Amino acid sequence: MNVSVVLFTSDLRLHDHPPLRAALDGAREVVPLFVRDRAVDAAGFAVPNRLAFLSDCLRDLDAGLRERGGRLVVRSGEPVEQVCRVAAEAGADEVHMSADVSAYAKHREERLRRALEAEGVRLHVHDAVTTAVTPGVLTPSGADHFAVFTPFYRHWSQKRLREPLGAPRRVPVPEGIGSLEPPSDKGTSPGLAPGGESEARRRLTAWLRSGIAGYEDRHDDLAGDATSRLSPHLHFGTLSAVELVHRARAVGGPGAGAFVRQVAWRDFHRQLLAARPDASTVDYRTKHDRWRTERTAREDIEAWREGRTGYPVVDAAMRQLRHEGWMHNRGRLLTASFLTKTLYVDWRVGARHFLDLLVDGDVANNQLNWQWVAGTGTDTRPNRVLNPVLQARRYDPDGAYVRRWVPELAAVDGASVHEPWKLPARERAALEYPDPLVELSEGLARFRKARERD
Ligand code: FAD
Repeated sequence: MNVSVVLFTSDLRLHDHPPLRAALDGAREVVPLFVRDRAVDAAGFAVPNRLAFLSDCLRDLDAGLRERGGRLVVRSGEPVEQVCRVAAEAGADEVHMSADVSAYAKHREERLRRALEAEGVRLHVHDAVTTAVTPGVLTPSGADHFAVFTPFYRHWSQKRLREPLGAPRRVPVPEGIGSLEPPSDKGTSPGLAPGGESEARRRLTAWLRSGIAGYEDRHDDLAGDATSRLSPHLHFGTLSAVELVHRARAVGGPGAGAFVRQVAWRDFHRQLLAARPDASTVDYRTKHDRWRTERTAREDIEAWREGRTGYPVVDAAMRQLRHEGWMHNRGRLLTASFLTKTLYVDWRVGARHFLDLLVDGDVANNQLNWQWVAGTGTDTRPNRVLNPVLQARRYDPDGAYVRRWVPELAAVDGASVHEPWKLPARERAALEYPDPLVELSEGLARFRKARERD
């Protein structure tokens, strides 16, 4: 066999890349290909922050391939058409790629398989490249997927993972295959983290050395920023989930244990979306909500998006999202609870806004976490409501997170920063900060009444 094509998708790395390894083992030369998919752009998924991160990833991948004697081939357009064209140009008889879970990815894979077969080219789809455990491998008795995390996690923990692969030493690429320049898009968030496998590996090393040990105690500390921030790297596949779990387990201890459990949540949501692709837009377990929407709650939604709800910790988190294209998990939980439960707005409105900005914006993790918080997903306590003031006191006890992101409150002392409406009238009037959008008790009553109908 002479030439194979490796189609890179959500696996933009050279370390632990089974499709690349298989292609190199079976062929004399390989064409590492990335297709900028115009349908993803048209669907509104390709937003500036993720395109900027993607640009870094592709440039870094190209540089890594060049160090190994190869290069990345970049094309743009309809992926099936582009892969077939490149396979024909290179005279390839095989194409290798990673399995993915979304309905769109699965449909693309089927169409690609048919189109390639018609040309006599075989498609190999590799499992456990974008997840640690392949979706569908673990199932409870009598169902095709796990609907509750704890039993899923028990099985997941016992599953033996494949051994991670090293990066190849050489990647010989045939001459004469035309390529676009890797893109150099810019994001909208000024504090966006850089992308690329080199950056992912730097971050991973630092995390394992000095972050992971404190994870169990500090992961909810909003101001401490003591989580790995590896989520965009897992999303774009600049870091392998299999390698991450192996290396975290090798560190050991309660911090690593708690961290690996979070990584398992990612696989949990992927196996759920793989089994129920419609859960990206439809309630997983409907509560028959008659949500407020863009039409009926426009001003509340705008205030939430812009971080001026009058609840400091909610506003701080929403402003972190806009500035960094990333938000702390505790912030995601409490801003999503505030939108869906306190304001009683449709979870899809919030999920869309997150996807517009998050650099790790991911259909499985975003939509299913939103559903979890809204109580239409897999939370076993679907009607729980997070109180933003109690959350703030607990996870931002000295107000450092709020002061960092809400400069209007930077001079407010102590815990008053979480309840500026309680300040003496004169002090309160001097602050250019809005009154609460809604009383928490009113929001709670509206939500409880709505769910009583269920
Ligand atoms: P760490 O705490 O260091 O965790 C390590 C890894 O575990 C993360 O990178 C992530 O891959 C995984 N993980 C952690 N928590 C979760 C979780 N609750 N569910 C699934 N996987 C998890 N995560 C995304 O990757 N993309 C999203 O679009 C996304 N949207 C979210 C929306 C809402 C409303 C909520 C509540 C959570 C969302 N999450 C999403 C999950 C979680 O908030 C982020 O993965 C996490 O904050 C990323 O930061 P980190 O890498 O420092 O996480």
